[in-house]
Amino acid sequence: MTRAQVEAALRDSERLSVKEYYFTGGEPFMNREIEGILEDTLALGPATVLTNATLLPPRRAERLAALAADSIYTLELRVSLDGVTPETNDALRGEGAFARCMEGVERLVGAGFLPIITAMRSWPEEATQSVLERFRELLSGIGYDRARVKILPPLLMGAEATRTRGYDETEHITHEMLHGYDLSQLLCTRARLVTADGVYACPILLDYPSARLASTLSEAARRSVTLSESACFTCYVSGAICSNAPPAQGGDR
Ligand code: SF4
Repeated sequence: MTRAQVEAALRDSERLSVKEYYFTGGEPFMNREIEGILEDTLALGPATVLTNATLLPPRRAERLAALAADSIYTLELRVSLDGVTPETNDALRGEGAFARCMEGVERLVGAGFLPIITAMRSWPEEATQSVLERFRELLSGIGYDRARVKILPPLLMGAEATRTRGYDETEHITHEMLHGYDLSQLLCTRARLVTADGVYACPILLDYPSARLASTLSEAARRSVTLSESACFTCYVSGAICSNAPPAQGGDR
């Protein structure tokens, strides 16, 4: 999105009393206007950028730190790193991604940020605690002690469905399952995804035409979400997997 398009959405968000903003992609730092976009956003509320940290040369890390220092709101960086070795990470994120990401994280830490490292769980669930420890050791080695690490459950769609398996027919939300369930755990009950192409229920369903709710945020805020996709089952089981707060199960920070 251009800075002007984001500005229009921000104006809309003010009218809706939106409390916080997340930027995702693709890779948000490929957007040449991202710093201006963040400046506009940080005038209104806290912002989080979900990034692979591979496009963070030293001057950009410094400019981000300056933006954060100039705002009364927080600027968070959430960095996707899916393994503690080049082999495990790059198998999912492409050759060389591990080294470039670690450099980016080091720069962010050097600029005063405490990035939230997020990893999609690609190991057996029972190994999560030991993998978390390995993440913290790894990050400690580049000067990031007591690192904030969040483990995300795998969404069995797209490349992950090919790598492991897709959802089976029992993995969907039924009406019965929602009795007594705290719906506020689901991101789509309190957030929307704004894109150049319209407003969607959530970032997970960006590629699902059925999840496009409206052209503007105001309209989309009035529309309810059906929870009919299998990916909704993962949210149901795991809680708020897209926000910065730790998920209900299997996560840590
Ligand atoms: S995947 Fe479904 S349950 Fe999860 S946030 Fe999106 S619409 Fe809501």
